[in-house]
Amino acid sequence: MNTQSNHMTDVIIIGAGVVGASIALELQRSGRSVTVIDKGESVGGGSTSASSALIRFNYSTRSGVVAAWESFHRWNAWEEHLGYVNGPIAQFHPLSMLLLEPPGFDRSSYLKHFNELGIPFEELDEKSLSDNYPMFDTGRFWPPSLPNDDQFFKNSEGKLGGFFVPYGGFIDDPQLAAQNLMDAARHFGAKVSLRTSVVEIKKTKNKVSGVKLENGEVIESSIVINAAGPWSSHINDLAGVSELMEMSTKAMRQEVHAIPAPAEFNFTNTPVMIGDLDLGFYTRPQPGGTLIVGGVEADCDPVFWVEDPDDDSLNPTVDSWEALVWRLAKRIPGASVPNRPTGLASHYDVTPDWTPIYDRTDLGGFYIACGTSGNQFKNAPLIGHLMNQLISACEAGHDHDNDPVQVLCPMVNEIVDLGTFSRNRKPVAGTGTVLG
Ligand SMILES: Cc1cc2nc3c(=O)[nH]c(=O)nc-3n(C[C@H](O)[C@H](O)[C@H](O)COP(=O)(O)OP(=O)(O)OC[C@H]3O[C@@H](n4cnc5c(N)ncnc54)[C@H](O)[C@@H]3O)c2cc1C
Repeated sequence: MNTQSNHMTDVIIIGAGVVGASIALELQRSGRSVTVIDKGESVGGGSTSASSALIRFNYSTRSGVVAAWESFHRWNAWEEHLGYVNGPIAQFHPLSMLLLEPPGFDRSSYLKHFNELGIPFEELDEKSLSDNYPMFDTGRFWPPSLPNDDQFFKNSEGKLGGFFVPYGGFIDDPQLAAQNLMDAARHFGAKVSLRTSVVEIKKTKNKVSGVKLENGEVIESSIVINAAGPWSSHINDLAGVSELMEMSTKAMRQEVHAIPAPAEFNFTNTPVMIGDLDLGFYTRPQPGGTLIVGGVEADCDPVFWVEDPDDDSLNPTVDSWEALVWRLAKRIPGASVPNRPTGLASHYDVTPDWTPIYDRTDLGGFYIACGTSGNQFKNAPLIGHLMNQLISACEAGHDHDNDPVQVLCPMVNEIVDLGTFSRNRKPVAGTGTVLG
């Protein structure tokens, strides 16, 4: 199977983000020769480098929860997962998770999966919230609003509820995590070409046959994988598969801000990430004494779809900063808000139901691992395994479209049904937000 030369390889992966790196490691380790192409300067330098890198388990589908739970165990054993380490590795920091609910929220949609899979949790009413988090205003601010709305500065009313999950965490350096995966893939024989753009998907009849690079070079391969993150829709267009699937992907601009952590809520004394659906933000503490703050697609928040992420500014804006950081300051009144935005902008690769696509396509040999919808960094240790199982089955003739591949997750001994991540699925009835 190892037929690699400069111009021929078993598998081409477009994209050296954390998704492409994870797939490269698993495919190369399983005996296929892999070539990864990325137009960027460095491995993990795309949207992966901007990730908040939160690891949590609340997803709308059972397979989504299984994938996150399995990946959590793999992050906890990162060095063993990699199988090769040569330098610093990304660190997993444990955090608990607190979800603060909007009125009428159906928490059972998550908790039924937690019960089935043995993921511990605790349901919290307003009293237990205020007992455990005396630094919070535990009243309701619902609905989320923008600072130019009078509603924004109203006092809270009523009582908040939510649930607490003791396990979870974050990765301190998401780009380094991608580099760890790619270093291991290289160690096992994968080739990586940076600063090289794929400009054409080569086909013979209805089968992929390779890619053409912007310098005119053609690399031949019978398997090509689109792991191009927020650029994935362009690659699907090049392959001619966009019109042949029910799902689509589109880049959406996102900002994440940073503020000093208040003394009463920081990484040392309150290692908890918060998803606040009542106010419309998420936050987590960082070891250096800051909180990062992002959005959860509240109805009032403007949505910025982007045709080409390369044309977009990556600077944070005052509008997003004020909306998100001031919301946090309403929940944690002790937080002080600096005058100027500090943070970053990047892009999610969003599907209509905020669930990723891990699938084959109608072009033989062309596979897609995209549409990660702002919530798949956490699954990076598993995505390579999922794609490896999918590709092995499909290349052996399995009819995945009609009989979806089932993948065993060995650390939690549960199954991911890859039909959940099909390009032709019925939209998942989820939150319609980054929570998935
Ligand atoms: C602000 C932000 C916060 C997030 N927070 C979280 C979180 O807390 N938890 C979580 O689980 N997930 C989170 N995510 C999502 C997660 O980070 C992404 O799902 C994941 O990093 C996507 O990785 P990727 O490899 O698919 O994409 P990328 O890292 O963007 O990699 C794609 C690569 O493809 C390359 N490429 C594109 N087109 C071409 C071409 N034509 N030729 C060659 N190369 C090409 C690009 O250069 C890029 O390097 C967040 C994302 C963002 C943006």
